Amino acid sequence: MSQAVAFAKSNESYVKAFTQGDLALPPSKAVAVVVCMDARIDPAAALGIDLGSTHVIRNAGGRTSDALRSLIISQQLLGTREIVIIHHTDCGMLTFTDVELRDKIHKELYVHADHIAFLPFSDIEKSVRDDIAFVKASPYILEESKSKITGYVYDVKNGKITEVKA
Ligand SMILES: [Zn+2]
Repeated sequence: MSQAVAFAKSNESYVKAFTQGDLALPPSKAVAVVVCMDARIDPAAALGIDLGSTHVIRNAGGRTSDALRSLIISQQLLGTREIVIIHHTDCGMLTFTDVELRDKIHKELYVHADHIAFLPFSDIEKSVRDDIAFVKASPYILEESKSKITGYVYDVKNGKITEVKA
């Protein structure tokens, strides 16, 4: 059975118990969380996020430059004002460089990826600080939100988040 089929099967029981079909489109807590796509992180459980309350924007590393398109839509069209950035220990982004990944892509797929910045990093706290700085410097992010940006490192060993001061 493919995983997609397993998902569809699980969804059947989810639908039977589902009761929250009347939530508003804008997130009720007016907050966007940018967090790594790592499979070991469950943002809703780890942060107490209720359905309908929060935009959770996920990508490799939880990089804000990659999330900018979504953050703009979140703020401009759906009213979020606060931004929380979460990177984590043992992140896959610590394991490669742009040069290495571009080389692998060229060998396997016979295409150049020199124009793609994969945004790996070697220091988790620095990457959080860099990403806080990125949103603070962005002209596409609301000025009133720039005092409401918080960064954390999530520890995959114990589930704890620790704030990283900008
Ligand atoms: Zn990660």
